[in-house]
Amino acid sequence: MTVRNWAGNHSYAGTLVSPASLDEAADVVARSRRVRAIGSRHSFNDIADSEQALVSLDALAYRHPDITQHGSDAPEGISPVVPAGPEPELDPTTGRVRVAGATRYADLVRFLEERGRTLANLASLPHLAVAGALATGTHGSGAGNPILGAAATGLEILTANGSLRTLTRDTDGDAFDGAVVSLGALGLVTAVTLETVPAFDVAQTVYGPARFEDVIDGFEEVSALGYSVSLFTTLRGQVFDTVWLKQAYDPATTVPATILGAPAYPEKVHPIPGVDPGNCTDQLGVPGPAGDRLPHFRADQLPSAGEEIQSEYLIPRARAREALLALDGLAGVIAGLVQTCEVRSIAADGAWLSPMHERDCVAVHFTFVRDAAAVGAVLPLLEATFGALDGVPHWGKVFDADPARLRARYPRRRDFLELMRDFDPQGTFTNDFLRRWVL
Ligand SMILES: Cc1cc2nc3c(=O)[nH]c(=O)nc-3n(C[C@H](O)[C@H](O)[C@H](O)COP(=O)(O)OP(=O)(O)OC[C@H]3O[C@@H](n4cnc5c(N)ncnc54)[C@H](O)[C@@H]3O)c2cc1C
Repeated sequence: MTVRNWAGNHSYAGTLVSPASLDEAADVVARSRRVRAIGSRHSFNDIADSEQALVSLDALAYRHPDITQHGSDAPEGISPVVPAGPEPELDPTTGRVRVAGATRYADLVRFLEERGRTLANLASLPHLAVAGALATGTHGSGAGNPILGAAATGLEILTANGSLRTLTRDTDGDAFDGAVVSLGALGLVTAVTLETVPAFDVAQTVYGPARFEDVIDGFEEVSALGYSVSLFTTLRGQVFDTVWLKQAYDPATTVPATILGAPAYPEKVHPIPGVDPGNCTDQLGVPGPAGDRLPHFRADQLPSAGEEIQSEYLIPRARAREALLALDGLAGVIAGLVQTCEVRSIAADGAWLSPMHERDCVAVHFTFVRDAAAVGAVLPLLEATFGALDGVPHWGKVFDADPARLRARYPRRRDFLELMRDFDPQGTFTNDFLRRWVL
């Protein structure tokens, strides 16, 4: 049976196994020569490919009873699994929550918000599995917001010999930073403990269009306007079609009348101009729980556009102006393939394989049309353009980088290889993706 990723642009190598218990999962790992985990399958490349067992821990995930469907995001080849994992454990003293790794953010954040807590940060969609998002350094937006993995304080990892190892930020310090963005190379992450914050409301207002040249000049100021700010352009017409301002809400919050001269849209809009915004979270400045506003897309709907291929570069924020000029320069060549392009800010973190390792970044993201050949043809251009600005690609999206450059860009790569040898001496969790880019 062919198992495809969410976007349908990649068929995974490996034989799907869906253990119904941790013991079964341990048995699969111990019996297999090669193993990889798959999460919610929202990556766009071969990062999860396995030379033998492709393990989905979906059956062990927690599902919130009120979130019965995450839209039509079940990929081809996967029969729907009804998660039957235990409720997350929220520690009232520390505010930390322990949750099964395969749990989707949508379920976790609803659980937390019913108890007066939430997560400080979310990606553009809440459909992702927590462990899968951590593994690739998934991020949201906001000059002060680091990768989602920065909230992790504990990881429980099923290792190659079938035994469970627990790492905590408090006791394992440096090694914990190595294990957060793991690319799935250390084992199956069965549970994750995360910091939570008191629940808060967010109001989302979308502005536009803003002139491209004004964004280039005003990027830093615009990025500082809210808790999370995203700017979208189709690279056509020298404009950013939309500027998404997400403000932590209190009644005294003032909402700018315009941003870079662009007014607020009077109706809901989608990041891709002309697409029905029904799958977007509420806008128009209406406050609501952070879990329903920080993502652009609603948990109960298909996110984004569905038929797409994504690519993204993370570039030091100090070079944001150069990155925006370079993006403008690419328009003539790539605009025909672009559905939309999102520019965001992300704060530095300590994870060894995080693209934001010890550097604040600007993210330049592309939602391309789902034409693998045409998109593949422009990837070297993206690498040449953003690699020259010390940018690195998102691990979970498509890219065609210079492997030597990529290896050199991660100063803790050798420490990560050491960690891999410690967790997985036989290379059970190794695959071609790791051989190509990391080993
Ligand atoms: C519509 C859309 C919007 C997106 N928006 C964003 C965004 O806002 N920000 C961003 O940074 N990215 C974004 N992404 C990319 C996505 O967040 C990452 O690719 C993420 O890693 C996907 O998580 P997943 O659970 O689907 O993992 P998968 O794609 O299934 O797997 C990714 C990696 O995680 C590993 N893995 C999965 N589960 C486990 C486990 N239990 N134990 C060990 N390893 C595991 C896999 O082996 C693989 O290496 C988006 C993707 C889509 C489709």
